[in-house]
Amino acid sequence: MAFDITKKKAFVCDLDGTLFMGAVPIKPAVDFVIDSTLSGRFSFYFLTNNTSKCPEEYIAKISGAGIPVKPEQILTPLITLEEYIREKGCKSVYLISSGKVKAHMAARLADAAVRLDYDPEANELIALAYDKELTYEKLARATTLWNVRMASGKTIDFVATHPDNCCPSELGPIPDVGGMLKLLETTNGMRPSHVFGKPSPTLLAPVLAKFKPSEIAVVGDRLYTDKAIADNAGIDFICVLSGETTPEDLAKYQGAPPAIAVETFNMIDK
Ligand SMILES: [Mg+2]
Repeated sequence: MAFDITKKKAFVCDLDGTLFMGAVPIKPAVDFVIDSTLSGRFSFYFLTNNTSKCPEEYIAKISGAGIPVKPEQILTPLITLEEYIREKGCKSVYLISSGKVKAHMAARLADAAVRLDYDPEANELIALAYDKELTYEKLARATTLWNVRMASGKTIDFVATHPDNCCPSELGPIPDVGGMLKLLETTNGMRPSHVFGKPSPTLLAPVLAKFKPSEIAVVGDRLYTDKAIADNAGIDFICVLSGETTPEDLAKYQGAPPAIAVETFNMIDK
């Protein structure tokens, strides 16, 4: 079925390769988001797997490009992690993250009296985020928590914020959570019970609470993450060719085609 923009009310936008190239805004796409926000034509949500940054940093980046944005429009696996901790009723979590992200999570969870420090006696959950301040000590603590619990016949839950094997940089791929998970698994076989973030559709829960799947489209430049989350949630995917996916990649792609493929996001309105 042809893509029908008149049926859409909300777009879930990937950031890098879709609205930005690194720090630089992709101007026509950003202008389309600004105009459609100001006219009230569409709602926008901004999707990122990158848990090395707090939502506030994304708000600064997006609003810095001129897009009006509120905190509830930022979708990051840190939201899913917070919900998971609340649902499970955890009071002691060993959170492996940057100091800034830890402070953000502690503030979010302050009302639930959740502690996020290493505490071998009390920790009920190990949570791995994209920690750019990762140290050998943190990795060793995660594995020893796991080892000691297993040896005593108990278990400890373990989750990760997202599965990305690498993070793109100007100088090529650099390590991300996927590589950290492989290191842990290689060490003692520990594997997460849940991995949040794209392509898990749990990240879209706030949007699906407000709009019908047929009213939403995901916009992104990566087929194996952005298209996968759209497919997993049963919503349309708009593939932009302003980032990672090339026309040749799309021609070779074996899965169901995207609803539409365009050079830049603004061109869906042509
Ligand atoms: Mg992208």
